[in-house]
Amino acid sequence: MGAFRRILIANRGEIALRVMRACRQMGISPVAVYSEADRLSPHARLADEAVAIGPAAPRESYLHAGRIIEAARRTGAEAVHPGYGFLAENAEFAEACERAGLVFIGPRPEVIRRMGRKDQGRALAAAAGVPVVPEGVGFPLLIKASAGGGGRGMRIVGREAELAEALESARREAEAAFGDGSLLLERYIEGARHVEFQILGDYHGNLVHLFERDCSIQRRHQKIIEESPSPALDEELRVRMAEAALSVGRALGYTSAGTVEFLLAPGGEFYFIEVNTRIQVEHPVTEMITGLDLVRLQIEVAEGRPLRLPTPRPEGHAIEARLYAEDPASGFLPSTGRIAVWSPPTGDADLRIESGVEEGLEVGIHYDPLLAKLIARGPDRETALRRLCGALRRLAVHGVSTNREFLLWVLEHPEFRAGRAHTGFLDQHPYEGGAGPGEDFLFAAIAALWLDRTQYAHRRLLPDVPSGFRNNPFRDPSLRLRVGSAVITLHWGRLSGDLYRVCAADRQAEVQVVSEGASRLTVAFDGLQRTFEFRESGQELFVHCPTASRAIHRLPRYPEPQTAPSHETANSPMPGQVLRILVREGQAVRAGDCLIVLEAMKMEQSIRTTIDGVVGAVLVEAGQVVAPGQKLVQIHREEDGAGYRAKEAE
Ligand code: ADP
Ligand code: ADP
Ligand code: MG
Repeated sequence: MGAFRRILIANRGEIALRVMRACRQMGISPVAVYSEADRLSPHARLADEAVAIGPAAPRESYLHAGRIIEAARRTGAEAVHPGYGFLAENAEFAEACERAGLVFIGPRPEVIRRMGRKDQGRALAAAAGVPVVPEGVGFPLLIKASAGGGGRGMRIVGREAELAEALESARREAEAAFGDGSLLLERYIEGARHVEFQILGDYHGNLVHLFERDCSIQRRHQKIIEESPSPALDEELRVRMAEAALSVGRALGYTSAGTVEFLLAPGGEFYFIEVNTRIQVEHPVTEMITGLDLVRLQIEVAEGRPLRLPTPRPEGHAIEARLYAEDPASGFLPSTGRIAVWSPPTGDADLRIESGVEEGLEVGIHYDPLLAKLIARGPDRETALRRLCGALRRLAVHGVSTNREFLLWVLEHPEFRAGRAHTGFLDQHPYEGGAGPGEDFLFAAIAALWLDRTQYAHRRLLPDVPSGFRNNPFRDPSLRLRVGSAVITLHWGRLSGDLYRVCAADRQAEVQVVSEGASRLTVAFDGLQRTFEFRESGQELFVHCPTASRAIHRLPRYPEPQTAPSHETANSPMPGQVLRILVREGQAVRAGDCLIVLEAMKMEQSIRTTIDGVVGAVLVEAGQVVAPGQKLVQIHREEDGAGYRAKEAE
């Protein structure tokens, strides 16, 4: 131990940049590692030095302990910060660092090992006198992977009849994800809140807690929105839960930053669920209310320094939202693409944005689709919430679909506003998605105007738009645009000067251009004036105003003629990896039969045939990485499948 001069950051994305910032503030030189896929990522470019750890498959690169340790040796780093995910909770890696003479910035390997399994964690907490969730007796119950994390391998089972199948699929998922299929059955606590305590310990016997975070808004058991203080705790309960968290920490001899997670039942009882032995995704929430720098404190503890904190006192309220590259309109499938526009709001000391993206960056399939975290603070919950909503609205991001509108919907939901949301919130209040058709029409109309004033005015005509329409509004030029999931055909003409009439099948409006700039139009529409920013990328036009934004795609004016195909292909709805192929060439299938199981990010997806027929060809192999829209299996329709008919006749 001793003061570090160089730290190797064994991670990527926003957390790599976050650790880098703490290093720089401490006068420590940050070293990055990067996979082939991350060659152009900001974390690789902005570090003092960056070491390639490809060419393993990009996902595995950051799990390659040997290469990471070699990179530290080569660059003269004395310590390794693992961030979260990847190797952060890997006891073997922590030990390998020690063997190589490197300090692992985190708790001791044996602490990581003891908390790496949920069954052992439970046993330790129970022995320390902390209540744990009762083991599964009766329904509903929750199946968990003992070695699990990130919400994977969990199944809620409502009835006995569902148990066997759920056990089987959970075991398979756990086996694949963690190389360990052992399971744990707990009583499923309905209507519970997720309340966790940040703890921090050093090598001099100090152990403190830094209050709670409420992370009850979850999808598939993964946190989406986190805040502190929890709206559900009063001071008495806070003290009791904090004491329980410290009991677990003491029983572990905990050092570094860690999180003790609890479920808080509607009746006020709380139960330990696990300890995360690392810095948490949502740590900025705690930093915003305490003014502390947790990553810096982790580094100081690893250097062997004693914690010298004034008695921590929380101030105000902080709330975080995780912005993901995913598409709420299609079941939250991860979305990929090139970030064409990335423009977060700036200049507000009560707003913090942690991101690892920038314009031009390719968001691929290999990693967690987290784009950024937005954290707002205020003297009270209401102020923090409103600030966060404002920031989300002002943020411009285009090129990939994001969950931004969904986050706003949650943050503005009356139940959430009232502080009543629990972990079942999204099951109880399913997201219906998207703004109304009115907004889509408005954006389409604005896009048409923009194209009219820029492209056509300069005679860069689209092949499908008739020229000369501006001289004759009745010639009915039209444009087909896709806005979100809607396809809108627009007709428009100039009435006079800067006044346009824009018509779609079911509505029309007059739009007045008030002023224009290089990439901006200020228009009055229905008596309301707004300024829109425009960015173009290929066939896509990104339109943003302070209250909303849309990606707008130009479509060919006349749809392709429809011919009934005699075969069909099952395509991948998302980027992913082929886990299992369930059919063979020549096999007869019925509509609804499962053809292929894909793994995309954190879930298994069954790809089913939509027609009856015969498998003509399997176009992929197990293990193959597939792109959205890629053909997976070709099915010949029943009518053409002579072989199939013959079989049926037998
Ligand atoms: P939190 O969000 O509370 O910090 P999570 O359990 O959601 O904790 O995990 C944080 C990050 O670590 C996420 O990016 C998740 O994908 C990743 N992660 C968690 N567990 C694992 C695991 N066992 N293997 C790989 N990645 C994991
Ligand atoms: P992970 O390692 O994936 O983070 P956790 O055990 O921390 O797994 O649980 C993740 C989430 O799953 C919790 O925040 C909670 O929403 C839900 N959960 C876990 N255990 C239970 C339970 N016994 N009853 C109800 N919900 C639970
Ligand atoms: Mg957890």
